[in-house]
Amino acid sequence: MSESLETLGVDGAIQADAVIIGAGPCGLFQIFELGLLGIRTHIIDSLKHPGGQCSELYPEKPIYDIPALPVCGAQELVDRLLQQAKPFDAQFHLGEEVTELKVLPDHTFLLRTSLATRFHARTVIIAGGLGSFQPRRLGCEGVEGFEGSAIHYKVKSAADFTDKRLLIFGGGDSALDWTLELTGKARHVTLVHRRPEFRAAPASVAKMRDLANHGSMRHVEAIAQSLIVENGEFKGVRVKKSDGEVEDLHADKALVFFGLHPKLGPIAEWGLGLDKRAILVDTEKFQTNVPGIFAVGDINTYPGKKKLILSGFHEAALAAFAVAAHINPAKKIPLQYTTTSPIMHKRLGVGD
Ligand SMILES: Cc1cc2nc3c(=O)[nH]c(=O)nc-3n(C[C@H](O)[C@H](O)[C@H](O)COP(=O)(O)OP(=O)(O)OC[C@H]3O[C@@H](n4cnc5c(N)ncnc54)[C@H](O)[C@@H]3O)c2cc1C
Repeated sequence: MSESLETLGVDGAIQADAVIIGAGPCGLFQIFELGLLGIRTHIIDSLKHPGGQCSELYPEKPIYDIPALPVCGAQELVDRLLQQAKPFDAQFHLGEEVTELKVLPDHTFLLRTSLATRFHARTVIIAGGLGSFQPRRLGCEGVEGFEGSAIHYKVKSAADFTDKRLLIFGGGDSALDWTLELTGKARHVTLVHRRPEFRAAPASVAKMRDLANHGSMRHVEAIAQSLIVENGEFKGVRVKKSDGEVEDLHADKALVFFGLHPKLGPIAEWGLGLDKRAILVDTEKFQTNVPGIFAVGDINTYPGKKKLILSGFHEAALAAFAVAAHINPAKKIPLQYTTTSPIMHKRLGVGD
């Protein structure tokens, strides 16, 4: 007897013709290319904002090899892609990692995210880049045992730190913003950063130095060496200061803001053909070994692959035609120019 939709987890799931995993530049352009062919999309990203590597790793840097844009800031490129995709009204699901992708007996797909959102999709396009971005961990032995209880990589609620002795690690905006926010609320705040220069906004750094000079908080130039643990309980972090001195910083909690780095993560467990952490695809449809699952951008590999944004754009265009054919195999999809096609003009919301 075949399983009911309910037992498969499809009941109550968001129904979609196409789900895109990853809202980096290639995922965003995939919305546009599918939109031109009349296919609406849901797009999911573990980051809280679209843009992938461009927004997360180098937003201010100029890119010089986007066709017809002699120079374009990385964040500007993302903003332009979002603007270009706007007519197609994709549904964004941000701050959710896709943790599960299952092929159902009828060859449709069930996806689940870290927030327990479920999607029942006819096609899936993986534009996962180098993987989902994860916080860089505090480099001390045994740190996993205290993550989520005493050691945190984000603040869920500032109230969790009220009246606590708190260590904050990092030199970027998050570290400085939370130092300023929690000083006065926590019992004591010590900011630990490995070098004298900070990446955070100069005004925040000046404010922090002022607070430190007035004794409202402490700033230590040091790196974490080991955890201080007594009877299985987190008691603080031993640090090595820039002058070589070792100091035990006693604390109830630590907040670590060392930035994010991409990790292939759950994608590796979905039964897709892989070659060195990239998904194998053909170069006609950019389809994986599972019909109906496609992969574009940095996440895929094929002979001659170059991890460039413009390669991902080409892949997204061809994948869109293949997605359309997969959804509606009986329908012929003619090539139409955006310049002259009335139906594309209608989809784009531009007058004829
Ligand atoms: C410093 C730097 C400079 C660069 N300069 C250039 C340049 O000049 N020209 C150029 O062409 N390229 C450049 N690149 C490379 C370019 O940024 C990448 O080729 C491009 O970002 C790839 O886009 P993408 O959409 O495939 O993936 P990404 O930008 O990596 O986006 C992938 C997205 O998928 C999300 N994701 C992954 N797994 C999951 C999951 N399971 N669930 C939910 N979300 C998930 C990630 O959070 C991420 O947001 C540069 C890269 C760097 C680091």
